[in-house]
Amino acid sequence: MADGARNLVRSVETTCPYCGVGCGVRAQATPERTACISGLESHPANFGRLCSKGMALGATLGLQSRLLHPEINGKRVYWDDAVADVARRLRSVIDAHGPDAVAFYVSGQLLTEDYYAANKLMKGYIGSANIDTNSRLCMASAVVAHKQAFGADLVPGCYEDLELADLVVFSGHNAAFTHPVLMRRMESAKGRGQKWIAIDPRRTDTAESADLHLPLAPQTDVRLWNGLLAWLIEHGAIDRDYLRDHVSGFDAAIGALARDDQSTQAIAQDCGLDVHAVEAFYALFAETPKTVSLFSMGANQSAQGVAKGAAIINCHLATGRIGKPGACPFSITGQPNAMGGRETGGMASTLAAHMDFDAVSRRRVQRFWNSPSIARKPGLKAVDMFDAVHDGRIKAVWIMATNPAVSMPNANKVREALANCPNVIVSECVGNTDTLEFAHVKLPAMGWSEKDGTVTNSERCISRQRALFDPAGEARADWRIIANVARAMGYEEGFDWRRPADIFREYAALTNFENAGRRFLSLGPLARLTDQDYEAMKPVQWPVKQAGGVARLFADGRFQTKDGRARIEVHAAKGPARKISKAFPLSLNTGRIRDQWHTMTRTGLAPDLCRHEPEPFVEMHPDDARAFEIDDGRLVRVETDFGEAVVLAKVTTAQRPGSLFMPMHWSRVFADAGLCNPMVEPKVDPLSGQPEFKHTPARVRAYAETWRGFFLARDCVAAPVGVDVVWRRTPIDGGYLHEFAGDGAVADADHVKLCLTSAAAGEVISFSDPLRGNKRWAEYLDGRLNRVLMIATSGTLPDRAWLTGVFAQDTLKIEDRTALLAGRALKGEPLGRIVCACMGIGETAIQKAIQCGAQDVEAIGAATRAGTNCGSCKTEIRRLLKDALAETSPTLEKEARYAA
Ligand code: SF4
Repeated sequence: MADGARNLVRSVETTCPYCGVGCGVRAQATPERTACISGLESHPANFGRLCSKGMALGATLGLQSRLLHPEINGKRVYWDDAVADVARRLRSVIDAHGPDAVAFYVSGQLLTEDYYAANKLMKGYIGSANIDTNSRLCMASAVVAHKQAFGADLVPGCYEDLELADLVVFSGHNAAFTHPVLMRRMESAKGRGQKWIAIDPRRTDTAESADLHLPLAPQTDVRLWNGLLAWLIEHGAIDRDYLRDHVSGFDAAIGALARDDQSTQAIAQDCGLDVHAVEAFYALFAETPKTVSLFSMGANQSAQGVAKGAAIINCHLATGRIGKPGACPFSITGQPNAMGGRETGGMASTLAAHMDFDAVSRRRVQRFWNSPSIARKPGLKAVDMFDAVHDGRIKAVWIMATNPAVSMPNANKVREALANCPNVIVSECVGNTDTLEFAHVKLPAMGWSEKDGTVTNSERCISRQRALFDPAGEARADWRIIANVARAMGYEEGFDWRRPADIFREYAALTNFENAGRRFLSLGPLARLTDQDYEAMKPVQWPVKQAGGVARLFADGRFQTKDGRARIEVHAAKGPARKISKAFPLSLNTGRIRDQWHTMTRTGLAPDLCRHEPEPFVEMHPDDARAFEIDDGRLVRVETDFGEAVVLAKVTTAQRPGSLFMPMHWSRVFADAGLCNPMVEPKVDPLSGQPEFKHTPARVRAYAETWRGFFLARDCVAAPVGVDVVWRRTPIDGGYLHEFAGDGAVADADHVKLCLTSAAAGEVISFSDPLRGNKRWAEYLDGRLNRVLMIATSGTLPDRAWLTGVFAQDTLKIEDRTALLAGRALKGEPLGRIVCACMGIGETAIQKAIQCGAQDVEAIGAATRAGTNCGSCKTEIRRLLKDALAETSPTLEKEARYAA
C-alpha cells in the first residue's frame, strides 16, 4: 500500500475485483499510480473489512505489465485498424461458414455493461449463442441446480443469513481462503455460539476451524446429502406443511432415495467417513432450523455438480429452510462478477436477463433489441467450445479478460486449439499472459482501476465499480471495444452507447421488459436512472422494487416455476467420473490458495501476496509420501493421462490418504512446470458443462533433483537455455526471485551459473565449496545488492525470506556482506514460512510468541502483529497454536481451542 502521507490526487468508492464477496473499497490514487486502499465501511458486503488480496490492490496498478497498444501479428497498430481487422475477420468467417463458426470466451472479470454488450453482439446480431464465460468453470452447476429447483438461477439468501444462522455447513467451500471476508463475518457469529460443519476431503483452514469435519472420499457428496434427506424423512424432521404448500416432487424423491441403502453405516462406508461423524452431522442439521448450507467450487466443479447442488437444496426444501432469516442453501461464486454474467446472458446456455431459448423469450428479446437476428439454441459451453476450436469448427475466437491457456482443464489441448485457430483475438489489460502468446490481434483493455460500471456479488448485490485513473496507454473499456467492432461490422444502431450508464439502463429495461412479475430478475426503477444517479448509485440487491432492493428471496413460498412451487429432484449418486487405477492410483484435486487470484496476472504482481505460498506445490498425505518415496520440501513429478508438472512436495496430514491437492494459479509466466490444469481430465457435468476439477486419477514420483538454486535479480530473467531445468519466478520487493532445480549432471549447475552471472556490471564476491557443492555469488551496484545467485548440489540453500529482505535494502550493511558468503544471517533467526502476508510475519515469530505464553490469536497478534490487519491468516495462526500446544499439553490445547 502506498504511503498515505503522499500527495493523493483522487479518491473513489469502488468494488474489489477478485472474489464473489464483492467488498466495497475506498481507493485513493497517488501521483505514482499506486493507491491507498481501505475497506468501505458503508458497503453491506464487508462493512470496512478487506482480505489480504483486497488490501494489496494498490501494488497491482503499475504500467509495467500492461498491454498498452493494439497489435496485429505482433505489430503495433492504430485502434481503427485493429477494430477494422477484428470486424473483417469475424465477418469473413461468418459469411463463409455461418455464425456458429465464431465464438466469444469471456470472463467473470468483465463488468455487467461489458457482458451485456458482448452478449447482445453475439446472440442478437451475429445470431449464434457461442458466447460462454469462464464462470462455466466455477458455478455453472449451481446455476442449473437453481433452475431445476426454483425455476430460475436465483440465489435465495444474503450475507446477513450467515450471521443469523445457528449452523453453517461448508460443502466443498474453503471460505477461509476463497471468501475471507465472509469468514470474518461468520467468525463473529461463531463467537456467539454458531456451529460449523465442513464437508471437504481436505482438512482446509475452514475445516480446521469447524466443530465437525467430514473428510469424505472424492465425489461422494451426493451420497452424503441424499443420505441426509433420507435421514430427515425417517426421523420426521421434515416440514410437511411447507412441502404440501410450496414444493413438488417429494413423493418421487422418496422413491428415488429408496433405490440405495440409506443406513448411516452404508453411507459412511461409501463416503469413507466415520459413522458417528455422519450421524452427528445429520442430527445437528435436523435440530437446527437456522441452517445455511454454503456450497462452492468443491461442489460445483464435478461431473455431477448439478446433482450435488440439488442434493443440498433438497434438504432445505424438505425442511422449509429457505426464504427465512438465517436459513437457506447458498451458492457462493468465485468471481467478482460471475453473477453479472449469469444475469445478462454471458453463459452459452442462457439467452439474456434470465430468459432461455424458448420461442416466446427469443421473440421478446429480439423485439427488445430490435436486432436483425437472434440465437436459436444454446451455444457451446467452454470445454465444447475449445474442442470446436481444436477440430476447426470454430474458426475465430475472441477471448476477453481471461486466460484459458492456463485455466481450462486439459489446457495443453486448449493451447493446441489456439495455436491452430486462424483468428485468435484477445482483449486483455495485462501484456504477458499465456493466452496472449496465441493472439493474432491484441486489444488493450482497461484494468480494474480504470473501469467504470457495475458488478453483482454472490448475494445479488449490484455495486458500482469506479475509475480511479485515466486509461493506461491506449486501453479502452471492454464494452467500447465490443461496440466499436459491432459498428465496424455494420451494426450501427444497436451499439451507439456513449457511456456505461446508457448500457446499464438498457440492460435494466430488458429485465423489466414484458415481465409483469414473472421473472424475479428485475431491476425495476434502475432503468430510469439519470447519469448522475448512476454515478452516485449505492449497492442494491435485486430484485429492485420501487422501495429498494430485496435481501431474501422466496419469503412468501413462491418460486419462479410455472406453478410457483419449488421442485425436489433426487439425482443418483455416481461417484467420480473416472476411477483411480493401478497406473494412476491417486486422486488429483485442484483449488485455490489464500493470497492468489485466478492465474496470478494481477495478484502475482504484489510481492506481499507471493510470500505465503511462493511456489507451486502438491500436497499429499504422509502415507502416500512414504509409499512413493517422496520427501517433504523436495520436488515431485505429478502425472495424469493428460499432462504433468514438477512442483514442491508438501507432506501433510491435512490431505486425505490417496488424494493430492494442487493450486490452480501458476501459469507458464510464473512456473512453466507448475501448471495443474493441463493435468485435469476435461470430463464435464452433462447438465451444466462444468468440468471435474476436483478429481483426476494421478500418480507421483520423486523428481530427484541433483542440484538446486535461486537467483535474485532486479529484472525478470528467462530460464537459461541448453539445460533441462525446473524454473519458477516470484516477484519480491525490488525485483524477482527465480528458483530452479535440475535432475541432470551437476555440471548443468555450472552452466546455469555461467548464464546468470555473465556480464556483471558491479562489484562481485563469490564463494565456492566443492566439498559440499555450494556456490554463492553476489553483485553490488550503487551500494546495494544487484544480483545474488545461490546453488547447492547437496545440503540446503540459504533462507529466502532473510535474503530477499537484504535484497530490498537500499544500502547493503557490512554485516550482510559477510553473511552473504556465509549463506546465513549472522544474527537473528530465520523468519520461517510467511504466515501473515500483510505484516510479513513468519512462523518463527509466531512460535516464539506461543513459547512465551501467548495462548490465543489475539495474544499472538499483540506480541507479533500477525493477524492484526486483514485477519486472513488467523485460521493458520490458530492451527499453529493448536499444533504447538498439542505437543506440550493436551489440556492446554483444549483451552486454547475454546479461547480461539
Ligand atoms: Fe476482495 Fe478479499 Fe473481499 Fe474477496 S474477500 S472481494 S478478494 S477483499
